Amino acid sequence: MHRNYIDGRFIEPGNSERIAVLNPATGAVISEIPNSPAAVVEQAIEAAKRAQSGWARLPAIERAGYLRRIAGKIRDNAEAIARVISEEQGKILSLARTEATFTADYLDYMAEWARRLEGEVITSDRADENIFLFRQPIGVIGGILPWNFPFFLIARKMAPALVTGNTIVIKPSEETPNNAALFTELLAQTDLPKGVFNLVYGNGAQAGSTLAGHRDIGMISFTGSVETGSRIMAAAAKNITKVNLELGGKAPAIVMDDADVDLAVNAIKDSRVINSGQVCNCAERIYVHRKVADAFSEKLVRAMRATTFGNPLGNADVNMGPLINVAAAEKVHGLVERALADGARLAAGGERVERDGGQYFEPTVLLDCRQDMEIMRREIFGPVAPVTVFDTLDQAIEMANDSDYGLTSSIYTRNLGNTMRACNELRFGETYVNRENFEAMQGFHAGVRRSGIGGADGKHGLYEYTQTHVVYIQNSR
Ligand code: NAD
Repeated sequence: MHRNYIDGRFIEPGNSERIAVLNPATGAVISEIPNSPAAVVEQAIEAAKRAQSGWARLPAIERAGYLRRIAGKIRDNAEAIARVISEEQGKILSLARTEATFTADYLDYMAEWARRLEGEVITSDRADENIFLFRQPIGVIGGILPWNFPFFLIARKMAPALVTGNTIVIKPSEETPNNAALFTELLAQTDLPKGVFNLVYGNGAQAGSTLAGHRDIGMISFTGSVETGSRIMAAAAKNITKVNLELGGKAPAIVMDDADVDLAVNAIKDSRVINSGQVCNCAERIYVHRKVADAFSEKLVRAMRATTFGNPLGNADVNMGPLINVAAAEKVHGLVERALADGARLAAGGERVERDGGQYFEPTVLLDCRQDMEIMRREIFGPVAPVTVFDTLDQAIEMANDSDYGLTSSIYTRNLGNTMRACNELRFGETYVNRENFEAMQGFHAGVRRSGIGGADGKHGLYEYTQTHVVYIQNSR
């Protein structure tokens, strides 16, 4: 049974209700967490609040030193971390290793900002007056995490929060708490002052909503689904708490007639297979120019059929692990069934596979999809590629923009004019041109429309964790 980490101490869960944690590849129970009641979450928030002013008084470079020490611990334990992530989340080991080392790099990257945090000096209309804009910490940050990149997301919230002088209370997903327990153990081996980082386990309805609705939380930084994001906003509205929401996606991939088709096929296939299609920024709907549609579809079908899947810890060579749980497999299956009933043509896969207690979905290609189909409009979060054919870039851009989601998008073309039109006309937080869907830590990962409010990474993501304070100093002589 994992223990909450509050005020620098691991706390025995007492007789809290328990939540079992399963290995999605076997269905076996691998650990338990307490479903922390509101009073426990409140203790964590109080500890973070007590610690905040002392933490903010430390020079930023000292705060950064703690992040670097945690990054070092992560590197030293990367293999063990990868196995824990893979076991509870189902991603293949190579991807889990990347997640662990990327997390360490991310902590170091955010630590580098310590000497670069800047305010502004604003010109006054008056003689003998200075106007200064300071960037101050917000206070206590509440971080609520999903299960799909659970280890990295701790750092994505904690690192910018801590380097700017905030303290934090994290609630990991109830599906993937084991990696968070390991992160916390490593962090506890450093001399990070007590109360700066706190971690509470539990479900969304109880622990999550207590965090989102608490008056001492300065900002809720949430990554997860649109539906939960909307609930969190409603809970935060009570106290006018700032929200930073990284929500779902339905990324369009446009393949032009002048595209390098092999490059497009590889990138789009990878995008559907990585983490079994359970990635917010990945291509979820494919628009292909009629002139290359047959060649593209044939190659995509071949690539998807060649994709292997299985228990990532049982067989290190598989390309894809299981889906996170039974509900996810049922959801993907339902979407595919309804697409077929609605006129889509099955070109690869299409079946749910239960193997040794794991829930898998075959890598699937659906051709002849139409823009009005549910499969082109709802987030799938599984290894399914629905394909629609277009004749002009105007049509493709119109269909791409016609979505409730606005996280990422991509285009494959060798033509500068097409590229420029994609830059100027695609209405998304990110667009990838001739490359895979993957953001850089120095970029800015932010969705428009229902994909979120605010963003993460880089300078802009860092400053989300600050609030401005403008000071007017008039000389009294
Ligand atoms: P989810 O919304 O079901 O759960 C996310 C977290 O919210 C969990 O910790 C859960 O316990 C908590 N929660 C649930 N109800 C709550 C409530 N009422 N109040 C407070 N907290 C609550 O999402 P998930 O299934 O874990 O993750 C998958 C989703 O996350 C997908 O939609 C995916 O696109 C999205 N995602 C987005 C990004 C991004 O950067 N935009 C990154 C990763 C995942």
